[in-house]
Amino acid sequence: MDRCEVLANFSEENSALTRRFCSPPMKQVHKEIGSWLEAIGWTSEIDAAGNLLGHNTNVDRPAVLIGSHLDTVRNAGKYDGVLGVMIGLAIAELIRESKTELAFDVEIIGFSEEEGVRFDSPYIGSSAIVECFDSQVLGQKDEDGITVEMALESFGCNPTEIGNASFANRNMAGFIEVHIEQGPVLEMENCPVGAVSAIAGQTRATIGFEGKAGHAGTVPHVHRRDGLAGAAEFISAVEKKGRETDGLFATVGDVRVEPNVSNVVPASAIVRVDLRHESDSVRMMAWQALKELASQIAGRRGLILTLETNLNQPAVQMDKEITNYLMKAISDCGYKPVQIPSGAGHDAVIMARMVPTSMLFVRCRDGISHHPDEHVEEADVVAAIKILFRGLVRISNGLLKSRT
Ligand SMILES: [Zn+2]
Repeated sequence: MDRCEVLANFSEENSALTRRFCSPPMKQVHKEIGSWLEAIGWTSEIDAAGNLLGHNTNVDRPAVLIGSHLDTVRNAGKYDGVLGVMIGLAIAELIRESKTELAFDVEIIGFSEEEGVRFDSPYIGSSAIVECFDSQVLGQKDEDGITVEMALESFGCNPTEIGNASFANRNMAGFIEVHIEQGPVLEMENCPVGAVSAIAGQTRATIGFEGKAGHAGTVPHVHRRDGLAGAAEFISAVEKKGRETDGLFATVGDVRVEPNVSNVVPASAIVRVDLRHESDSVRMMAWQALKELASQIAGRRGLILTLETNLNQPAVQMDKEITNYLMKAISDCGYKPVQIPSGAGHDAVIMARMVPTSMLFVRCRDGISHHPDEHVEEADVVAAIKILFRGLVRISNGLLKSRT
């Protein structure tokens, strides 16, 4: 917790925490974490994508990687990302102090870029690790006209060697990301820590209801083709779908009305829908039903319907075996084993393409994140460390058993 406080001081702004990819304060963070690793006899290095890697040995044993991201949003809280790296460090210290022998090496990672704030391109660090980094991204510019390539170079990284960041030839037994929940479920369940079942898939779509503008005082209701009234009916249907479907998050957070004048019957309304669920089939079925409803509403009201799907991102299931061990570890430590899906994206989504991946969520106050009020209780962090440590022992025993 103290370390999260220390790292929160390394910011691009004086009065707020903002630490973007390859910014000068990221250098300070790397130096600070490097010194903490050194204190326990570990070495740290920065790869060609600006990720911080901490390790202890060069022996060719399988490794379990623990970590999260070190970049932040603008005006961020102290724990989003950073906490997962600090818990990795705490685990390394605990293994050392307790002289625990595991069937694998534990390694730590602090991803360079997850939030996508500086270049509008998230997951630069983890994509390099799993070889899905798109080299086109190197040319992308920030608001000052600096490209990703230039930013990496000025950070001391060699962008032409980004391929070397790959873990393809590594013997990886797993990747575990501990992250604050960024939602209220664990608080509602009264659980300090939960295992993540899957990272929810997402549908984003734009739906337009086009009618005809008219005078608010002269056009009788039977003759109206009110685009906004149609959209309003649809928004209610989206909410109803979310309430009725277990585990579905269904939101309309963006409405554009034309002409948006109080004494004119709206000619058109464009709404943007966001649907998330850990099961792709449930999400697709909900989307199909909503499309049919939109079409019925438009038909009944004499509106022209336009429909565009902007994103159709499948859910990412967490590794069953590692997640089972983590669930057992939660029970071992005396807590209720809960499993929840993540509605937000994480480096784990990318890492799961190459490495058996799982996540633990830590309860955060009021579900607040991406805000200076972000808060976690020390007791919950202690629980997370104990659970992860216990989980690693279980994974180790499982590995040994599978070898004999
Ligand atoms: Zn995060």
